[in-house]
Amino acid sequence: KSKVEGKNKHTIFIPAMMEDNKRRLLLANSITPGLKNNEFQVYYQPKVNADEHIVGFEALLRWHSPELGNVSPGEFIIIAEQSGKINQITEWLLKEVMYDYASILAHFGENTVVSVNLSAHDLKNTKILELITALYDRYFINPKCIEYEVTESTYLENFDMANECFENIRSLGSSIALDDFGTGYSSLSYLTQIKLNTLKIDKQFVDNLGISQRSTLVTKTVIEMAKQLNLNICAEGVETRQQMAFLVAHGCHQLQGYLFGKPTDLATLLATPYKRENK
Ligand code: C2E
Ligand code: MG
Ligand code: MG
Ligand code: MG
Repeated sequence: KSKVEGKNKHTIFIPAMMEDNKRRLLLANSITPGLKNNEFQVYYQPKVNADEHIVGFEALLRWHSPELGNVSPGEFIIIAEQSGKINQITEWLLKEVMYDYASILAHFGENTVVSVNLSAHDLKNTKILELITALYDRYFINPKCIEYEVTESTYLENFDMANECFENIRSLGSSIALDDFGTGYSSLSYLTQIKLNTLKIDKQFVDNLGISQRSTLVTKTVIEMAKQLNLNICAEGVETRQQMAFLVAHGCHQLQGYLFGKPTDLATLLATPYKRENK
């Protein structure tokens, strides 16, 4: 049995791999023209407090390509990183977000925080800090209203460089959030070495709430630890009232997920009757 299966796998594997490589190459080569042709768009997903009032939004990239259809960031961000295109994407994204910032704050209040995802390669890009500073100037941005989300894998390789970049961002007055907490390697050791403002609890933990006693206990412990470390805590991927009730009862006061809103484009966002904090 195994021989036949092995043979079949072999013959199927190679064309599949070629298809895969072809698609990756096609995507990689379509990023720069795609940016020029306005195929990319920034979507925003709400973050709310325990009263379900808006505290901020996370910027999430979307790519609608006429030839390739909708390509998810889960696919194109990795390809952009591997093909050296991520800096272009991030620079484009930062400009868009800073441009949108004024209408978001005018609508939702001056304490609204807009979060942007950064990738590992962005932290090595020496131009990124200059760009951020220039955009803050150009668009009269209060640095406190911008937060940068990074995942653990982001600085696995180049810890010192990443840490320096975080310090620079923090000295501008903006904050750093550790994204997808609990899914990477050595999460706990990073917590002792990096100055963070926010811990984002990964959707995995939220999904498992109430499903097993053990995973519920782990989630409770993570929230407790973040509180002890004086970090803001934001739970990702909240989809049910039960999850929300549990998280709030245990002191997690920032929530993000489909229960409160999916990512949408700016026009839709401004037309959605979200509850605002009193200005
Ligand atoms: P992330 O930063 O952890 O973003 C959260 C992801 O979870 C988003 O997926 C969001 O749409 C999704 N999500 C939020 N709430 C729910 C929920 O209740 N249920 C479910 N099933 N999903 C939910 P998205 O937009 O597909 O992005 C995936 C990842 O791609 C992001 O994970 C982030 O790591 C990366 N990404 C997205 N935009 C950017 C970007 O502009 N720059 C960089 N460097 N990475 C980005
Ligand atoms: Mg994020
Ligand atoms: Mg996340
Ligand atoms: Mg994620």
